[in-house]
Amino acid sequence: MSQLPAPPASRTLGTSDIAISPIAWGMWRLAEGSRSRADAAALVHAALDAGITLLDTADIYGFDGTGGFGDAEALLGEVLAADPGLRDKMVLATKGGIMPPLPYDQSRSYLTEALDKSLARVKVDTVDLYQIHRPDLLAHPQEVARTLEDAVSAGKVRTLGVSNFTPAQIDALAHFLTVPLVSTQPEISPLRIDCFENGELDQAMRMGLTPLAWSPLGGGALISPKGARDIAVATELDRIAGEQGVSRSVAAYGWLMAHPAGIVPIVGSQNAERIAEATQALEMRWTRQDWYAVLVAARGAPMP
Ligand code: NAP
Repeated sequence: MSQLPAPPASRTLGTSDIAISPIAWGMWRLAEGSRSRADAAALVHAALDAGITLLDTADIYGFDGTGGFGDAEALLGEVLAADPGLRDKMVLATKGGIMPPLPYDQSRSYLTEALDKSLARVKVDTVDLYQIHRPDLLAHPQEVARTLEDAVSAGKVRTLGVSNFTPAQIDALAHFLTVPLVSTQPEISPLRIDCFENGELDQAMRMGLTPLAWSPLGGGALISPKGARDIAVATELDRIAGEQGVSRSVAAYGWLMAHPAGIVPIVGSQNAERIAEATQALEMRWTRQDWYAVLVAARGAPMP
């Protein structure tokens, strides 16, 4: 059986010239459990040592913990302040645009201040990728585009991306932008397969956006599957993982990476061994039969 092409070991972030690893590490859960600066630094090192250079955070991460809004960014900022050489070893991505309890705000005043506060918390002058976390239905894309372009012009942001945007929302924002969007960040996993058929990945390929997959293990649901469908997906992944000598989580990352859109899974684990293990996905090879077998298990129905 012929195999799908292996994922490239390195690629660029969208149409920019910024080189990124084919796997990212996410810091949503970094500030959980009052993690110390030393422990957070160990996780950052685990990712970088494994060759995972794209690091994803957001201003809202940790908002429901002890320190509140900005906690995960602030902890990363402590790590970077203690070891400034780390900054140049990573492609740093953050997000803004959600402010609890008000759901979403992308007005010019809010977004400009949100970015400045992110930079201050992380203690950097520039982030490599700034993403709108979720679309604000009350912000005109033209206003959002001007705000984002000004951030790029001011040198606060190198590239721009979106998260949880529909294809139409991406089209509208891109229409008003004079600099290209480089990434989109939807939820994608073997349990969340909408984007394979709803146009999101087709649009990413057409526009040259790097798709960053959030919760690639379904937030952990794939590791402790409940219900017939989730168990069927895990069983199919286990079969392929067993044949290739990897774990189910690695098989899930590999499955995403086999797609031609160049999906970059954002590993959510805050465990150094599991972060390093993720890179085994680069060694996986997929046949069409195996890839579609996972999709069919997730669909719960054969392909038409
Ligand atoms: P995930 O990889 O789907 O789930 C990670 C969770 O699974 C962790 O709690 C991890 O625990 C657990 N887990 C259990 N067994 C594991 C194993 N064998 N290998 C790996 N993990 C295992 O990802 P996620 O944390 O939900 O999300 C990943 C990233 O996506 C976030 O950090 C964030 O950057 C991004 N995100 C973005 C959005 C958005 O709206 N844009 C939303 C959610 C997340 P351990 O830590 O103990 O390994």
